Amino acid sequence: MAKHLAQKEKPIKKPARRPLQELTIRIPDRSKAKKNKRHTRSVEDRFQSAMLNKTLDRKFTLTDLVLAGLALVLLLVSYFLPTHGLIRLLSFLVPFLLAGYSYLFEAFQEAFMGIVLGRELIITLASLMAFFGGSNFGGAAIMVFMKLCDLALSYAELLQSQKIDALYALRSDKATIISNSGEVSGKASELQEGDLIEIAAGELIPVDGVVIGGTSVLDASALTRSNSSFAVSAGSRVLSGCTNVSAPIRVKVECPQSESLISSLIRSAENAWMHKSAQQRLLQRIMSYAAAGIVAAAIVLALVFSVVTGQWRLWLLRASVLLTVSQMYAVVQTVKLAYDCAASNAAGKGLIIKGHDVLEALSRAETMVFDKTGTVTVGKYTIKGVFPRGITEDQLLFLAGAAELHSDHPIAKALVNASGAYASDVEAVDIEETPGRGVCAFIDGRSVYVGNGALMEDHGISYDTPTVPGSAIHVAIDNRYVGHIVMEDALRDGAFDAVEELRLCGVSTTVMLTGDVHSAARKVASSLNFDLVKSELTPEEKCSSVDYLMSNRNVNTTLAFVGDGICDTDALKLATVGIALGCLDRKEAIAASDVAILGEDIHNIPRACRIAKAASEAATTNMIVCGAVKVLVLLLGLFGVMGVGLAVTLQTAAVLFEVLNALRILYFEENRPKLRREKKQ
Ligand code: ADP
Ligand code: MG
Repeated sequence: MAKHLAQKEKPIKKPARRPLQELTIRIPDRSKAKKNKRHTRSVEDRFQSAMLNKTLDRKFTLTDLVLAGLALVLLLVSYFLPTHGLIRLLSFLVPFLLAGYSYLFEAFQEAFMGIVLGRELIITLASLMAFFGGSNFGGAAIMVFMKLCDLALSYAELLQSQKIDALYALRSDKATIISNSGEVSGKASELQEGDLIEIAAGELIPVDGVVIGGTSVLDASALTRSNSSFAVSAGSRVLSGCTNVSAPIRVKVECPQSESLISSLIRSAENAWMHKSAQQRLLQRIMSYAAAGIVAAAIVLALVFSVVTGQWRLWLLRASVLLTVSQMYAVVQTVKLAYDCAASNAAGKGLIIKGHDVLEALSRAETMVFDKTGTVTVGKYTIKGVFPRGITEDQLLFLAGAAELHSDHPIAKALVNASGAYASDVEAVDIEETPGRGVCAFIDGRSVYVGNGALMEDHGISYDTPTVPGSAIHVAIDNRYVGHIVMEDALRDGAFDAVEELRLCGVSTTVMLTGDVHSAARKVASSLNFDLVKSELTPEEKCSSVDYLMSNRNVNTTLAFVGDGICDTDALKLATVGIALGCLDRKEAIAASDVAILGEDIHNIPRACRIAKAASEAATTNMIVCGAVKVLVLLLGLFGVMGVGLAVTLQTAAVLFEVLNALRILYFEENRPKLRREKKQ
């Protein structure tokens, strides 16, 4: 972490520019899909021992806080009061009961149900052993400090969950349903596909749907956490969680609320904790064995050593120290908390990170593969030149626009715009879109092909070699070539800096995979300093390349794929971490990705990496601090150097430190590193 911060403070020398290489790829067998993908992992925790996860649902309440505070004051007062004998015992029993009444009750339940390793049962035993061993302070402190740790943890959980609550606020409960009898108020959760609803200006969109009447502007900035609004009119899709800004609109419901965008975002953010990192799984495994071992040792001390030596008070006290060390719940929770805080922090910035394992994997990303169109480029093509053959320029644009009318591809949208309003007057039927190639449509009974050179070759159509640099889209009617249109897409704002920032986050290899032509790909890749580039790929070939890079990455490192969700959802699924950028209106991309970046800002990619790194570092620090304190207390306690009071105080201090360390990630506002710019030739 220190290194990370130091890097941010001083201007950083830009890494030496490496020559751009062509990526030569052996096409591997797709069946050897990556093994560690989230789709194969189980959400079940194999180590849900009663000691580690039992009180996950314990909530923070003001009453508990007041009682614990009072108990702490009474504990300290009792410690310093010069009382003796029964009075002293009674003065410690008050804080013991105030802080521990609920634990005592649960301990009783656990004993009754035979949960031998129950957390409350063990802590109660430790406390009673301390009292019987003669340490009144130790006995009461165990309960009071355990309560304080639990409160700190549940308060931290509360703080981190508030960022997710902001998403809840975007899910509207109400809807105005248009029925035969007029407009009626209803519950958004009961809407079904095909229902008609009216959304007034200023209201949240309750479900995903299609506008059937009215025009308005929707504001999505609460979702993307950046300025984003878009106009909608009849036929436009509307997304739940956006606010209807300017005028009422009528919407036909596309899916129930539970399947709408806002619900899927809430689900992903809420369930992130279920996908534990490898670090957490290992910790739980070690901790559950260690806890059982330490409890067994404590029982031996308390039963065997005390009887054999006759010094039962001494061994009871030592056993009590061991029992406090066996409490691993807080450790597991503070590591979890670090990742929870990171996921919540990210959610507050419009980045949905779907698991703690995703954060961990992202923190180890060494190879990052980018799609081009719509990912490192804006995905808004402009026409650079129209080169008709045998027809006029307008006719060429018109044909291209008409065939592309129903495609979502950025090229299609630009062609439809360029063809003016006329294209929509034509009826194009039997439209067939080939990802990474283009479209074929029947217009007036003739087949029209619009796409790249590969599409033309697929149909045996010879085409002109473009003389103007850019992405050339060729057009043919009934296998007769009628010209091409050269288009260009601009780089995203800040793309260069974002890639440089990624290098500072440890991404040492950057790769671009694109279906676009070689010249356009090379231009983009060299202006962004990518290490490798591969062009003219079909979506399947993109997957093969990702597969190849995955299997050739360094041990202990991961590969992230960044795409926009158009023609690259398989690659998003295949990479260790699939990052979908600007995917607000693409549900498939959100579903396929591990990190869904709703806004368009490309800086969110290095930002996600920085948050992930900070989380992983905080989790590691927490594990080390806790491990060191536990070992120290165990050894000193075992040999009688440390009493139970000090033992429990030290462990509580460690837990409080760990909670604060994890909470730091919740408020972690990563400053973007200063990059020293070198003008590009
Ligand atoms: P990228 O890999 O850069 O994101 P895509 O895989 O989406 O690009 O598309 C690759 C290429 O396929 C485009 O550059 C274009 O030549 C062609 N293409 C894909 N879809 C279409 C379409 N609807 N119309 C015309 N050409 C298309
Ligand atoms: Mg793309």
